[in-house]
Amino acid sequence: MKRVYNFSAGPAVLPESVLKKVQEELLSYQGSGMSVMELSHRSSLFQSIIDDAEALLRELMEIPSNYKVLFLQGGASLQFSMVPMNLGKQKAAYVNTGSWSKKAISEAKKIKGLEIEEIASAAETNFTTVPTVPMVSQDMDYLHITTNNTIEGTTFFVPPAAGKVPLVADMSSNILSSQYTVSDFGLIYAGAQKNIGPAGLTIVIIREDLIGLNETSSAMLDYKIQADNHSLYNTPPTFSIYVAKLVFEWLKDLGGVAKMEKMNRKKAELLYSTIDASSLYASPVEKSARSLTNIPFITGKSELDKQFIEEAEAAGFLNLKGHRSVGGMRASLYNAFPFEGVQALVAFMQAFEEKVR
Ligand code: PMP
Repeated sequence: MKRVYNFSAGPAVLPESVLKKVQEELLSYQGSGMSVMELSHRSSLFQSIIDDAEALLRELMEIPSNYKVLFLQGGASLQFSMVPMNLGKQKAAYVNTGSWSKKAISEAKKIKGLEIEEIASAAETNFTTVPTVPMVSQDMDYLHITTNNTIEGTTFFVPPAAGKVPLVADMSSNILSSQYTVSDFGLIYAGAQKNIGPAGLTIVIIREDLIGLNETSSAMLDYKIQADNHSLYNTPPTFSIYVAKLVFEWLKDLGGVAKMEKMNRKKAELLYSTIDASSLYASPVEKSARSLTNIPFITGKSELDKQFIEEAEAAGFLNLKGHRSVGGMRASLYNAFPFEGVQALVAFMQAFEEKVR
């Protein structure tokens, strides 16, 4: 059986050792005679899985004890609504760094009685960098940023200072791949399908004082109800949580987030240096904001981009097509993407450049 180099932005490549472990345990999880998919979410076996997943995530991200970890559903997109529903009283501030932050802003604007102010935007540079964020006015309910812009390939490596205003971060595409200090944030959320596990699971890390601020119209959308029920208010995505736990174990064994960031930096640097040294490829992103996990590049000619993507696919490099909104190519190099895959891609890129020159 042949595995390909999968550059997908998500759902994305998972560690092969994790997939093998899943396969091994699939028919009978720990002698239960059932797969994890068939276990009751109220069983002690599943309770250990979710407890271990939480403990491992706490350890990996050094999550302080005054933060709750929630295992939810609905994707990062549902957090675009849950954040303003639960945290918004009167006015919230947003930084616009591209497609996903625009969606977050647009959903927040639908919440009645909440005023949304865009306090910084990367629109002027066509989203090829992240803007300098001015100090947010201290009467804001929260300040929302997207730490990594999956489509544009830009990153806030250092989150903006927000004073006493809780900083809320959509960390979907770089959670666990770069180090952040959790206490810099009031709330962090991320869809699982890039660096954590299968789609269907959404992680929320929330400071306790931000829980229960608003009455929400639905129990499922209420952080307090989810927290009081330890993410088991209803049936959670059990299988995704199980795979996430295995991915957390894999990451811990590998040396944790600091080590992973180093490895990610090495992968990204190899690709960026190849792009920068070439006369065919270019990176549209300003150097200081270049993402480690999502790397867009272009040839400048859409016909050549198309040819590149087709030939790459035939050579076993899959999902290199840029997002439909920006075109060109994009290599997503999440935690589980191997260094050898980047070396192979770089060799392919150089051979393609020679050929079409
Ligand atoms: N935010 C970011 C930064 C993303 O990359 C994505 C998905 N690509 C989303 C939000 C939306 O996530 P979901 O599909 O889990 O709703």
